[in-house]
Amino acid sequence: MGFQKTLAKVATFKGIGLHTGKEVNLSVYPAPTNSGYLLKRKDVVDSVMVPMLANKVMATSMATTVGGEGFTVSTVEHCLSAACALELDNLIFEVDGPEFPIMDGSASVFFEGFDSSGILQQSAPKNYIVVKDKIFFEEGDKSAAIEPYMGFKVTAEIDFEHSSIGHQTMSLEMSPSTFKREISLARTFGFFKDAEALKARGLALGGSLDNAIILDDSGIMNPGGLRMEQEFVRHKILDAVGDLATLGRPIRGHLILKKAGHDLMNKLVKTLDEKSSSWTEQNLVY
Ligand SMILES: [Zn+2]
Repeated sequence: MGFQKTLAKVATFKGIGLHTGKEVNLSVYPAPTNSGYLLKRKDVVDSVMVPMLANKVMATSMATTVGGEGFTVSTVEHCLSAACALELDNLIFEVDGPEFPIMDGSASVFFEGFDSSGILQQSAPKNYIVVKDKIFFEEGDKSAAIEPYMGFKVTAEIDFEHSSIGHQTMSLEMSPSTFKREISLARTFGFFKDAEALKARGLALGGSLDNAIILDDSGIMNPGGLRMEQEFVRHKILDAVGDLATLGRPIRGHLILKKAGHDLMNKLVKTLDEKSSSWTEQNLVY
């Protein structure tokens, strides 16, 4: 901890996009100090690099979509989550389609890919956002908050009226090892009836039991069942870490989510970014 980090060499991922169902290639390159996370579309002529920040989030329904300058890229949150959990600061994400590959629906393939590419410590100090004052958002029965905390902790709560999910809550002190063990393997999930409706609209065409937990009225349809207890709330934490990465800097604080999704996370991150009186920036080199 203390200094900025990037990858030692490029990490590549090939897989289908959740919405298009088409194969996409993602290459994640090392980047110089103070670059943050930059996004480029290889298949778009003269594509410029767009910083993957909260004010570049174009859509939040079902997945987080980042873009600008004539292009968008969807479903970036699982890959960003792995990068953020490994405390990587500077990366260039280059993809040849409109979404990141969904892989197995978790962050595990990205985490392992980054880890095996190697992590390089850079010469510049890390600038942490250290939360001083609580920021809280509430919409109906959903809420998202960030509170002062001298570490990085995420607490999430979900409540679904489905016997296989129900009420789940989890709190975790985030580190590369806790993320790998407790969060990275948790898959995205959806309901069979919603998937059919989405497919009829030309969406979620790549969605299958290979890349999501799918539930019908009687239970979990995946033959192998769940990978671990409370996989659903673990995936919510995975998504939240990815969305928090659009702050552009590592954070010292406690993120607390109640039934919150990408939309509320985006509002929270934007407000945190704008309300600089609620945090201090520290180099924390030691
Ligand atoms: Zn997700």
